[in-house]
Amino acid sequence: MIKLTYEQIAEKIKEKSGISQEELDQRVKEKMDHLSGLISKDGAAHIIANELGVNAFEEISGKIKLNKLLPGMRSVEVVGKIMALYDIREFTTQRGNGKVGSFFIADESGRSRITCWNSATDKMAGLKEGSIIKIKNGYAKENNGKVELHLNDNSEIEINPAGETVEVPDNMAVSDMQRKKIAELAESDFNVEILGTIVQVFDPRFFEVCPQCGKRARQREDKFHCDQHQEVQPEYSYVMNAIIDDGTETIRTVLFRQQAEKFIGKPREAMLQYREEKEKFEEVKTDLLGQMVKLGGRVNKNTMFDRLELMVNNVDTNPDPEAEIARLKTA
Ligand SMILES: [Zn+2]
Repeated sequence: MIKLTYEQIAEKIKEKSGISQEELDQRVKEKMDHLSGLISKDGAAHIIANELGVNAFEEISGKIKLNKLLPGMRSVEVVGKIMALYDIREFTTQRGNGKVGSFFIADESGRSRITCWNSATDKMAGLKEGSIIKIKNGYAKENNGKVELHLNDNSEIEINPAGETVEVPDNMAVSDMQRKKIAELAESDFNVEILGTIVQVFDPRFFEVCPQCGKRARQREDKFHCDQHQEVQPEYSYVMNAIIDDGTETIRTVLFRQQAEKFIGKPREAMLQYREEKEKFEEVKTDLLGQMVKLGGRVNKNTMFDRLELMVNNVDTNPDPEAEIARLKTA
């Protein structure tokens, strides 16, 4: 059910039926009295809308600006520019394995997180930060007090839709990540962004994963095993660390797979080559040192070393200096 406020429903009823606010309030009150407090004011307004033959939900599916999204809307169509794109994560619940991917889009009115579940994550192939996209058949849900658009198998993503332009205001935040100074980071931060200089880069570490589920594959004698898929021919995944300094403090950051690729600006093939030819990575390190980078993620306490680390889920190696200056001015 779409969560319209009383005012929104009332507006719709007045517009479609021509009754006055006073008359509507009166009918709502009677309905509530009649049902002896078993119904909310909004609920009563919905009933009256029905009695008057007013469909309070019409015209609110279909194409819509991001700031008009309401939880419960279905078959929503939006057009926006991708502001931030995150990795697809796999997870396991009692009902089995799942996948989820997300990104933020913005238009001139606002910004929303788009979440893709399971096979809908396939629709994220080819998306890039900065792309203009049209989404069809999304459904809006509330999450942590914010409205998100969720995509399932019936949803569609069109890249560079013909005839659509999007003007995102300069002061629109890229995501709902909170910008913090490194010295301000706390163990509980799960959606923060830092901006700093790369001061140290460590060699990537490689490990075997199951090609089907992406989970760690363990060696037993000369074969590799996945808990779920038994004996497998493993693929390689990787993780790398870098130290970032923003003038207040330094922090060790942890970059897995796609984030590591974005961080060094090289594809998976190059990464896999460094596994065999370690010395080639030295050049990469030298290039990275002193570079400015913007990293988003969650803070994790490494209990073994008693230090905070940033588990990175978004990398921007080319932060826009004008946007950063504007942010300092408004901070
Ligand atoms: Zn597996």
